[in-house]
Amino acid sequence: MALLRPVDAPRELHGRRKLGVFSPATLEPLGEIEIASADDVRRAVARAREAQAAWAEKSFEERGRYLLRARDLLVDRADEIAETICRDTGKPRMEALATEVLASCDALTYYAKRAKQLLRDRRQGLHLLKTKKLVLSWRPMGVVGIITPWNFPFVLSVNPTVQALMAGNAVVLKPSEITPFVGQALARLLADAGLPEGVFQLLTGDGVTGAALVDAGVDKISFTGSVRTGRKIAEACGRQLVPCTLELGGKDPMIVCDDADLERAARGAVWGAFANAGQVCMSTERVYVGRKLAEPFIARVVELTRELRQGPESEGEVDVGAITSPAQLDTIERHVADALAKGARVLTGGRRNPAYPGFFYEPTVLVDVNHDMAIMREETFGPCLPIQVVQDEDEALRLANDTSFGLQASVWTRDSWKGKRLANRIAAGGVVVDDCMTTYAIAESPFGGLKESGIGRVNGELGIKSYCHVQSLVLPRLRPKREMLWYPYRAADVARLKKALRLLYRSPLAKLLGN
Ligand code: NAD
Repeated sequence: MALLRPVDAPRELHGRRKLGVFSPATLEPLGEIEIASADDVRRAVARAREAQAAWAEKSFEERGRYLLRARDLLVDRADEIAETICRDTGKPRMEALATEVLASCDALTYYAKRAKQLLRDRRQGLHLLKTKKLVLSWRPMGVVGIITPWNFPFVLSVNPTVQALMAGNAVVLKPSEITPFVGQALARLLADAGLPEGVFQLLTGDGVTGAALVDAGVDKISFTGSVRTGRKIAEACGRQLVPCTLELGGKDPMIVCDDADLERAARGAVWGAFANAGQVCMSTERVYVGRKLAEPFIARVVELTRELRQGPESEGEVDVGAITSPAQLDTIERHVADALAKGARVLTGGRRNPAYPGFFYEPTVLVDVNHDMAIMREETFGPCLPIQVVQDEDEALRLANDTSFGLQASVWTRDSWKGKRLANRIAAGGVVVDDCMTTYAIAESPFGGLKESGIGRVNGELGIKSYCHVQSLVLPRLRPKREMLWYPYRAADVARLKKALRLLYRSPLAKLLGN
């Protein structure tokens, strides 16, 4: 089948580059966007810098009021925004509403209401310098550049934006060129909520615009996307000594223990693998199941997979939507072909859905897979569920860790403490027991990965603090005319220091002091 691109090759018009955007579900043209040039990017960053100081001066309550107004508008426009998300991505309306609109309302509410508490000054008693007080104060960084992908184009733009704004920064957002109209809907929402000019700006464009944003003198880059682009951004940020958070890919394992609830685990596997057509950084990308449960588990997974309804959102009730990017479709087909060539068997699916012209790939279950296959070690990012039967939990753990990724994982057992013990042995930024794909939805939980899954954490207290620099304030408790270490250095002070050294570390008092 000849593939139309969801975005055309850029074309020049009156010196501006433009990009045509298409629906991945129907291949109909959706419109055109202008690609912001390096000059546009520099101007936006300069405007943001101008606006940031006054924004940072506002109280948490004032900043929060703008964002709660945006939240209320989002609730009022839920249908319209969900429609834009469905059109740009090809995902079902239920997913657009739950994982993008509702999740964004939660992010707007949580940070608008809690930022003050999360970023409150922390006073700390000092164990040595008793004459001083320490106060840690979280200050805004300045201008934050946010670059986001196409799989959850709304919430993955809203979430970092809200955190950066509540921390007192100005934001310049560059959303994915594959789903640009969702980014524009967000910009309208924030403008209509009355956000002061320049505090939030949107730049539409492709990787060239993204690279220009990284080089435009921002104070931090928050990036969500592929490992390939993440490396380029880390290099560019490294050269400029600009901090960056990188939320990259995953190859999340699911370990099904012998004592798991079979029905729950099978339903969880099917949802974890096929929600958003498998295009979730924390999708269940591979399953390890013990011999005892393997047969009934696989049979139930296949049964449930065959019940899934796939198609464009316009057809009404559908469970599995389109593949948003055709490049991703190529990866999915390559992984399945590689697995089949190496001896895997497809139990259901295994091909593009012939009923539709758009980018649909059937929900696919594979068995007889092993770690020589790309589908078990590289990110597939599509509706594929390869299931490997293992001897025991030790083998499952060894295989779970046999990947360059380390984003999330799930362990399925009726025994939560056993789940925790196993979880602690998985090299992943987060593990869920008896469920999957929930960590990002928990505002309080830090989210991020190890190894090639990225650097840093988003969300929760750690996430919002990553949009700040911590300032150490050292305050006096006493104000003698001269500190012991100040000039002049006197023999009497040397003697006093030696005495103090012994007292602090080699005397009965040392124990009392906790030294
Ligand atoms: P991508 O890396 O191709 O693009 C992401 C963004 O980066 C886009 O806005 C793009 O225009 C921009 N970009 C491209 N080249 C750039 C450059 N040189 N400099 C600056 N910006 C540039 O990723 P994608 O295909 O849009 O997204 C899919 C990937 O995102 C998957 O690997 C997925 O796992 C990952 N992802 C991770 C998380 C997470 O939280 N860990 C969440 C969602 C998606």
